[in-house]
Amino acid sequence: MSGEQDEQQVREEITECYRYSAGLGLNELSSGNLSCRFEDGMLISPSGASEANIAPERIVRVSLDGDWEGDVKPSSEWRMHAEIYRQHERAQAVVHTHSDYCVALSCHNQPLPGFHYLVGSFGGDDVPCVPYSTFGTETLARDAASALKERSACLLGNHGMICRAGNLKSGVELAQRLEIMCRQYLVSRQIGEPDRLTTAQWDEFFDRARKVSYGRYI
Ligand code: 13P
Ligand code: ZN
Repeated sequence: MSGEQDEQQVREEITECYRYSAGLGLNELSSGNLSCRFEDGMLISPSGASEANIAPERIVRVSLDGDWEGDVKPSSEWRMHAEIYRQHERAQAVVHTHSDYCVALSCHNQPLPGFHYLVGSFGGDDVPCVPYSTFGTETLARDAASALKERSACLLGNHGMICRAGNLKSGVELAQRLEIMCRQYLVSRQIGEPDRLTTAQWDEFFDRARKVSYGRYI
């Protein structure tokens, strides 16, 4: 397959995944963005992308230093995506959303605690929340990339969530999983703070998860 065909395929995949994610309600209007690592940079959704205007030819090729060409501007969050690719060799895709329940929890600047064993799908006993910084800034990029050292996802204070994955489909699935877990946590909090799994329970969970290769992200 030629490099050009290959690039076209990734552009189509980003478009399809963006539409799918929008259909799930994860990126309403033009909130959120998706990217795939491509050669020594990335292919990323354009700034102001929406379910209505996303298209393969509007996906932007950007270097990890932010160089791009053409009429379509890349997502304003290219720095956050680039820093994650720079710091995490295994990351092949990055998904950022403003989905409702992730935003709701992030506005309390609290991590998603280990109230349910599936929180472990993100690689540990909680999903951290990084402090608020203005969108598109280096500070936000650095904080998010460093929170993703030990986890595949984090909340972004007063903003939303971001995750890294081995491919775009898994990234969207992780973003959906985090939205579901935040929803379930906030529902559970309606009748008081839910119990947490104990350290021993987490040890047993991760032991078992490794044995049965459960959760591709652990
Ligand atoms: P873009 O439309 O520039 O991708 O920005 C959306 C967003 O989520 C900013 O944080
Ligand atoms: Zn955002």
